[in-house]
Amino acid sequence: MDYEHVREVDPAVADALVGEVDRQRSSLQMIASENHVSEAVLEAQSSVLTNKYAEGYPGARYYGGCEYADEIENLAIERAKELWGAEHVNVQPHSGTQANQGVYYAMLEPGDRILSMELDHGGHLSHGHPANFTGQLYDVEQYVVDAETGRIDFEDVKTKAEAHDPDVIVSGYSAYPREVEWERFQEIAEDVGTYHLADIAHITGLVAGGVHENPVGTADFVTGSTHKTIRAGRGGIIMTSEEHADEIDSAVFPGGQGGPLMHNVAGKAVGFKEALEPEFEEYAQQVVANAKALADRLQDHGLRVVSGGTDVHLVLVDLRGSHPDLSGGTAEEALEDAGIVLNANTVPDETRPPFDPSGIRIGTPALTSRGFDEDDHRTVADLIVEVLDDPEDEDVRAEVLEDVAALCEANPLYE
Ligand SMILES: *Cc1c(COP(=O)(O)O)cnc(C)c1O
Repeated sequence: MDYEHVREVDPAVADALVGEVDRQRSSLQMIASENHVSEAVLEAQSSVLTNKYAEGYPGARYYGGCEYADEIENLAIERAKELWGAEHVNVQPHSGTQANQGVYYAMLEPGDRILSMELDHGGHLSHGHPANFTGQLYDVEQYVVDAETGRIDFEDVKTKAEAHDPDVIVSGYSAYPREVEWERFQEIAEDVGTYHLADIAHITGLVAGGVHENPVGTADFVTGSTHKTIRAGRGGIIMTSEEHADEIDSAVFPGGQGGPLMHNVAGKAVGFKEALEPEFEEYAQQVVANAKALADRLQDHGLRVVSGGTDVHLVLVDLRGSHPDLSGGTAEEALEDAGIVLNANTVPDETRPPFDPSGIRIGTPALTSRGFDEDDHRTVADLIVEVLDDPEDEDVRAEVLEDVAALCEANPLYE
């Protein structure tokens, strides 16, 4: 990965790309929404398909020369159907947000009502935040998690569903450490006569790998990002029943997008093929086992883990329990200096501002992709705590950085 063609044209960008490869190799990527795709997916996503216009859908394009684009998009669709058991799949959304936009645009009118989880409690911007188009176009009501248990407060969901009479209920989150009970949402949606959108952006790979319950077939619409746990490169996806197939397809194109990013669709096809191999189930199991090992060890050190543990690929730490004077932002910066990259995150019942909240979110998908096991994650937990206990101490950071380097060397990336 020396980017020699880029270097001939543009040394500044080549230097930055090489720097990024080195950064990913030599530090621990623990941002829960990130992953390391295979070199096969990288190659597909940087292919000549970036040149190709393919507006429309396979067999019905607005441009000529689409035979290979058609073949690749059909493969992506067929593999997604097999992975998640969906009747209808659209692989053209540019990202997870555009997948959600596709569903809203297909099913809602401006002014219609959305019921979703608060951002502070683990929701996503595209679920109705005031700074997002969803918060401006739609009338949004939000439910919360129970502050004690850290779990979805279904009484709150039910009460708000009855009072707000939403046109869609959104489930699925960015920072929720527990299994989501899709049926309970579906039941509430049916009771109040509304649609249910399950946004599995973070957990696409956990669902495909059989370690999280699958909402496909239960929820009316399932959306996701393809670059998170499913490891198929940057992009989005929508899954639904035959009944809503045409509405969804025309909401994505021409409703909300122009030409599909066919190089990314190729990445999805390749990543989905990898995910259909039996090894991917082992990967998904290891992601969760690693997160549990990490959560247990952090709790052994006295840290407060939201909900007391995890069922998924992430651990949410509420620093107010063990480090009341340390903000999430300061923790994030100190850890990054020590080679551990993660993000500050809001926690339930947040008392600090959103740009410098009280928690940190720690994910295991990327480290698991480069071979880290439970023992490694216990070591990583120890290193995280060392930095959190002494965030100002440069010697501590330097020592941790050395341990990080050893872990990276033992689990090489993109050799
Ligand atoms: C990541 C995420 C998305 C989509 O984000 P993109 O960056 O647009 O792919 C949507 N919903 C949830 C819950 C997410 O976590």
